[in-house]
Amino acid sequence: MRNIQETNRGHRNNSRSRPRTKLMSAENQIIYLDNNSSTRIDPEVLEEMMPFLTERYGNPSGSHRFGAQVKDATKLAHERLAALLGCEPTEVVFTSCGTESDNTALHSALQMTPARRHIVTTAVEHNAVLNYCQAAAKNGCDVTIVEVDEEGNLDVAEIEQAIRPDTAVVSVMWANNETGVIFPLEEISAVCREKGVVFHTDAVQAVGKTKINLAEQSFQFLALSGHKLHAPKGVGALYVNRNSKFHPLVIGGPQENGRRAGTDNVASIVGLGKAAEIAASTLEEENTQVRALRDRFETELRAQLDDVVINGDAENRLPNTSNLAFLGVDAQAILIKLDQAGICCSLGSSCTTGAVEPSHVLRAMHMTNERARSSLRFSFGRYNTEAELDRVLEILPRIVNTLRQLSPLSA
Ligand SMILES: *Cc1c(COP(=O)(O)O)cnc(C)c1O
Repeated sequence: MRNIQETNRGHRNNSRSRPRTKLMSAENQIIYLDNNSSTRIDPEVLEEMMPFLTERYGNPSGSHRFGAQVKDATKLAHERLAALLGCEPTEVVFTSCGTESDNTALHSALQMTPARRHIVTTAVEHNAVLNYCQAAAKNGCDVTIVEVDEEGNLDVAEIEQAIRPDTAVVSVMWANNETGVIFPLEEISAVCREKGVVFHTDAVQAVGKTKINLAEQSFQFLALSGHKLHAPKGVGALYVNRNSKFHPLVIGGPQENGRRAGTDNVASIVGLGKAAEIAASTLEEENTQVRALRDRFETELRAQLDDVVINGDAENRLPNTSNLAFLGVDAQAILIKLDQAGICCSLGSSCTTGAVEPSHVLRAMHMTNERARSSLRFSFGRYNTEAELDRVLEILPRIVNTLRQLSPLSA
């Protein structure tokens, strides 16, 4: 899992630099460092989608050739996504989002074995998993939440110890959306296989950023989301292992081999297929260019500023993610100033009820509230440039220094 070197697949397309140049000049106002939150649609993805939003509007389930052509396009999307994941096209189920994929996997696992009413998951999962588990707990399930250490790492032995004879499913994310920390999934899934327990992974942040080959894994389920890999919002997919029993969440028509009812969101499915094809050819870029930008950001920022610390394991994380604590400074104040300068990033805390709450992920890492409240997440992507980074490295230290001078709490 830690080996995120990509083999040279040989179909990297040089024309890809063209749309990018056009793209950047069209929007030189915004520097977007929030790619774990959502990504921009790749122009080639949009181009493939357009016919299905205009003249190719037939229902893929239709019994005429007009619909059959649309069906062919969704079939190609299954093939492209399967190629990225290293699985069979029939193992791909398109859904409406990453959240639905996570919910479906957990729902299916619980339905498959009604006698088993126990779920094992981690304290740092996305709410798509955590809140589903909370709802399941209200319906009589037991949920064991495994903690992480101060670096955000998980101990496989603790997962193993948490599994009981009545465990229906173990759900562990591949990589964390806030810190980028990567979990040892191969070992965890091996433990689950040994114990005969269904294993699901929320791989929304991993797909397109790390190499995935499901043929080498023993997962029952894997969830992903279009808008985290340069496809549109509102489309996701669930990998369902061909040997796994399955119970749909959305029930109705026979779409997606009877595993997800509802007329296909054709344009978005086509878009996700194309995004998957592009992701296969840009994996190397994620691990070289994007990683280099992120590393330069951290190195130069920390050379300019004292008391900037990385939240989460600095080595064992996604190549694009930088979660930093600016000790002694209110991150919200930094975020507002960055926003005024056209730089987008995310808070390490959320302001859901009026009061600023440290994120459940940072809290799970046993971080003080002060440190969590001084934390920001910067997530890079393939459209970011060195020139943008120059600008951020000029603006951000100034903002932090100004705020530190104002604040009597300077660390
Ligand atoms: C974004 C995200 C989701 C939810 O995906 P949606 O398509 O927005 O529903 C789930 N898990 C993780 C880790 C995410 O980052």
